[in-house]
Amino acid sequence: MHQKDTLGELYEQVVQRNPAEPEFHQAVLEVLESLSPVIAKHPEYKEAKLLERICEPERQIIFRVPWVDDSGTVQIHRGFRVEFNSALGPYKGGLRFHPSVNLGVVKFLGFEQIFKNSLSGMPIGGGKGGSDFDPKGRSDNEIMRFCQSFMTELYRHIGEYTDVPAGDIGVGARELGFMFGQYKRLTNRYESGVLTGKGLGWGGARVRKEATGYGTVYFVREMLSAQGTNLEGKEVVVSGSGNVAIYAMEKVQQLGGTVVACSDSGGYLYDPAGIDVGLVRQIKEIERGRISDYAARRQNGSDFVAGASIWELPCQVALPCATQNELTGSDAKTLIGNGVMAVAEGANMPCTPEAVKLFRETGTLFGPAKAANAGGVATSALEMQQNASRDSWSFDYSEQRLKDIMVEIHRSCFETAEEYGRPGDYVFGANTTGFCRVADAMLAFGVI
Ligand code: GLU
Repeated sequence: MHQKDTLGELYEQVVQRNPAEPEFHQAVLEVLESLSPVIAKHPEYKEAKLLERICEPERQIIFRVPWVDDSGTVQIHRGFRVEFNSALGPYKGGLRFHPSVNLGVVKFLGFEQIFKNSLSGMPIGGGKGGSDFDPKGRSDNEIMRFCQSFMTELYRHIGEYTDVPAGDIGVGARELGFMFGQYKRLTNRYESGVLTGKGLGWGGARVRKEATGYGTVYFVREMLSAQGTNLEGKEVVVSGSGNVAIYAMEKVQQLGGTVVACSDSGGYLYDPAGIDVGLVRQIKEIERGRISDYAARRQNGSDFVAGASIWELPCQVALPCATQNELTGSDAKTLIGNGVMAVAEGANMPCTPEAVKLFRETGTLFGPAKAANAGGVATSALEMQQNASRDSWSFDYSEQRLKDIMVEIHRSCFETAEEYGRPGDYVFGANTTGFCRVADAMLAFGVI
């Protein structure tokens, strides 16, 4: 946004007020760049300074997380929870445990979460949290002590009507179990709806684990279907090999596509016969190992390529499901040169602004994270619904609900883009739809 208009000025203000937070600036710019036509149509938003208010988190909590490792050494980490916006419901969003976590990263994720959650159509606000703790290589006991210490501070800020954390990178059912146990102990309440992504035996919801990956693929199916095609026979590349990637791969294969590659931070795994998702799950989910072990165990000519970018592989559909800014402008050029038809973001903000620009300019179907990966948090809202009614739904019913939600997200992005004369622009459709719902609720509440 280089023009010196109101939105450009606001962006500059955000950069000044939030120094050294490049990921947050990037997320804000991407939303602001979509909003000029909306602000022109709704002068009341401008008058009420809605954009200025939305860019400022309602509350930011930073805390010390001390714990003792297996060798008896004291370790200190930093914990975060950014409660960004509660116009549509309690703050909702995951916790990320990864050494790259800092305030700017948590704010970018929390900001994205506001619009994603709004777009999901569920009654949830936006928030995010986490720590710079690295769970890699830690024993179960160390993970438990860390999670207990983290929750010993976090518990006073959360609650089923206040703020409902879940998982993200580095936080799955094991970590949520330790945190839920500590919350229960500190509060003396079995408050199931305070966390989502829980284990199935203690209040978790069926399909939550699969939901982000499945939802991304349902979104791709809708984008392709709007162009009169589908996933059958298509070659698909999925980056990452965590929870999102695993279930995206599973759903692609159920819908007739072939996933030829996935990756981790060490490189990518190429299996032209189609990735054996069961084996990846065994290595990653159960053994907590590395996918470089896959080729030796599969013995079918598959190959692990260390240190290379997965986006050099030709494919018709690309699903970045690893982490932010993992797909650059030059990767996008390679993908487009190799004939990619559709790209959908399973991770949060995995494509750099240059990559997104290239996809949009070349008419490549592009599903932004706020829309394409909203299935995870939407199913978290279904978990909250089941917890509130002390109910537990079947797998098939839960998956049908997820499917319906993804179809509806696609429809609303698609139709909003058409309404504003930007057909096929899902970035514009997602930002505009997500923003307007939050803005209308905030207007109704007055200046708060
Ligand atoms: N961390 C996930 C996301 O990025 C899920 C959040 C949740 O379920 O609350 O949307």
